[in-house]
Amino acid sequence: MTEPITTYKTSGNIEIIRADFPILSRKVNGKPLIYFDNGATSQKPKSVIDALDNYYSNQNANIHRGVHTLSQEITLDYENARTTIQKLLNAAYSHEIIFTKGTTDGINLVATSFGKRYVGLGDEIIVSAMEHHSNILPWQQLCDEKGAILKVIPINDAGELQLEEFKKLVNSKTKMVAISHVSNTLGTINPIKEIIKLAHAKNVPVLVDGAQAVPHTIVDVQELDCDFYCFSGHKLFGPTGIGILYGKEKWLNAMPPYQVGGGTIKTVSFEKTEYADPPLKFEAGTPHIAGAIGLAAAIDYVNAIGLNTIASYEYELLTYATEALQKIDGLKIIGTAKQKASVISFIVDGLHPFDIGTILDQLGIAVRTGHHCTQPLMARYGISGTVRVSFAFYNTKYEIDEFIEGLQRAIKMLK
Ligand code: PLP
Repeated sequence: MTEPITTYKTSGNIEIIRADFPILSRKVNGKPLIYFDNGATSQKPKSVIDALDNYYSNQNANIHRGVHTLSQEITLDYENARTTIQKLLNAAYSHEIIFTKGTTDGINLVATSFGKRYVGLGDEIIVSAMEHHSNILPWQQLCDEKGAILKVIPINDAGELQLEEFKKLVNSKTKMVAISHVSNTLGTINPIKEIIKLAHAKNVPVLVDGAQAVPHTIVDVQELDCDFYCFSGHKLFGPTGIGILYGKEKWLNAMPPYQVGGGTIKTVSFEKTEYADPPLKFEAGTPHIAGAIGLAAAIDYVNAIGLNTIASYEYELLTYATEALQKIDGLKIIGTAKQKASVISFIVDGLHPFDIGTILDQLGIAVRTGHHCTQPLMARYGISGTVRVSFAFYNTKYEIDEFIEGLQRAIKMLK
């Protein structure tokens, strides 16, 4: 992503950072855990666990509705969490930040709500060949319902978007471009700023699936000029069940509510309901209050290290692991884009990814195997699955050495 560095500027000692993550000191199958499945979900620092504990131990109350002290205190914390996320994404207003269940929920919200108002018969939605199912199915379903057409930006063999093809796809019928910032399977960092510029030149809004980007790089939604940006708290060292949808104010004002109920209204009568302004219009029912508090704690933690520092360190891990993997006979890396985040997918001649993953697990090494919720991408490469390793800032070169040794052992056993 950026130029490599050799140590963390904060502590100079990664062991100090690792000690903040209780799970990293546990054993799996009698071996110290080596956790390389950060793309699926990341581990949680003590400060996040403590924030959740503190919420349920000392702060528990419902938000926005109570005059009593507990309710007022937690309402303030919940809204402060929104501001923390606004700052993380550099959104213009805190009301552009909607709390969701996660990336999938955010994309469904936009596909349903935006789709209801703006998509009709014969319209087109553009996604890419490398999308996660969560950024395909909501659009596919919308197209089925409305008689619209799903178009797909192709990729080259390295796993990079073919921008010339994209330019040909965008036209006056296009209603939305929905694209991942970073591919969860290939690690490709997409040129989303350029894509947004090209789409906007044809007056087409862009939704960015940032699930794999936010934990690894600085995201500035105003600089990108994206219309929507989604991510999941649990991949950003926060709790599960909480996520974020950023939406430009003009769209959030224009879109109908996704789900309706308590919290979304200004006034209700049996004849007519007046809905609240964003963000409350999109947050029906009691939200995941603890999740919002925990996510803010996770962001504070990440900010204390610095996303630039994280990106540089992870680039070092990516380069180190890629070089080591390339030396293994019969191993092929799937996804060799010039711009990559710390995700590596690979296959080994004649071996099933599942078998490799199972042996690595016996050695305490957690990797992901399978299609990674990207079956169309697997079809593009003519494979059924890969082994995927995905790194976070608490991983080390020592762990990569152990993984490479374990992988070589697994290959020997299986061949
Ligand atoms: N998009 C991408 C690129 C992902 O990697 C993932 C999860 O792996 C998702 C969407 C879905 O995220 P969630 O399950 O947190 O909603």
